Amino acid sequence: METPKFQIPDWAFTFHGHKCPFMPIGYRMGTIALRLLEVERSKDHEMHVFSEMGVGHPQGCMQDGIMSATGATFGKGMIDKLNYGKVAATFWYPGAKSAYRIFLRNEFQDKLAPHEFFKYRKQGIEPSQIPNEVCDDIIDVVLNATVDELFNITILPDFTYKPVKGSFNKAACEVCGEYVFERYLRIKDGKKVCISCSGRESEETVIHLPNLLKSGSKF
Ligand SMILES: [Zn+2]
Ligand SMILES: [Zn+2]
Repeated sequence: METPKFQIPDWAFTFHGHKCPFMPIGYRMGTIALRLLEVERSKDHEMHVFSEMGVGHPQGCMQDGIMSATGATFGKGMIDKLNYGKVAATFWYPGAKSAYRIFLRNEFQDKLAPHEFFKYRKQGIEPSQIPNEVCDDIIDVVLNATVDELFNITILPDFTYKPVKGSFNKAACEVCGEYVFERYLRIKDGKKVCISCSGRESEETVIHLPNLLKSGSKF
């Protein structure tokens, strides 16, 4: 029996802006994460995603697919980027027994690599300028693949993550007068100031790194 082709809603392509294989890969990742966690797409701030993507790679497009499928958006502060340079993400949900890490298999990455789509990309041609049939063809490779062909999934039973507590508290910077959320206020010469007026670089990198990859079991 043939596996039915996976469907991606058109709006996800509209949101992403072009047709490429990685947004659909991320969309499929997110869909699997929802199923494993037994949850619906997040309306508010439920899910948290730790993307292992870095910068400067077309694979980063997968993050738009993840956001579209799960509702864990950048704007709602629900996705952090770990900059490990891997096509992988960990999905955490409050109250769920485990978190799940999903990695795009090397074999599938190797299967995509020789596709005509990347001949254009390597010449610096952007996806929106690549012939439509070439884009549709590589997307079909993603949509027709089985979950096993695509992903390595790891259960992370001991994964802990504490979401940053929301705060509405703000104060006006005593130099520029602009409101600042208090977590970002600095003291300079006895004045409460914003980071720009403090003359310092933002020394606080708010990344809440979870215990990735420890005690994970293959699944
Ligand atoms: Zn893309
Ligand atoms: Zn200021």
